[in-house]
Amino acid sequence: MSNNRSINNSRARKQNAKKAVIFLSAILEDNKSDLTIMNSAARSLVRMGKKHGIRPSSDIYKKICRTCESALIPGSTTRVRFSKGFITNTCKICNNTYRLKLSTT
Ligand SMILES: [Zn+2]
Repeated sequence: MSNNRSINNSRARKQNAKKAVIFLSAILEDNKSDLTIMNSAARSLVRMGKKHGIRPSSDIYKKICRTCESALIPGSTTRVRFSKGFITNTCKICNNTYRLKLSTT
């Protein structure tokens, strides 16, 4: 059951979603916005990924808690610990932890 009518619409929707992802990524990137705004930007980005399959860059994705869909801001909503070559980010809202390997350059 393919629906030919929706092909053009879905392309336009994907374009819009891409624009939105770029816009929302910029909010998370500059770290200067209000916490409420950053949280709603993070939530929108996660939902955009689920709905349209468009995901922000991995750098941006690291700034979002995938469990509670809030923005991970070091010193504000995130506890950051360094140990044995790993960065451990703990979300203060849902206590979920993310371990990132420190890049050795
Ligand atoms: Zn969380």
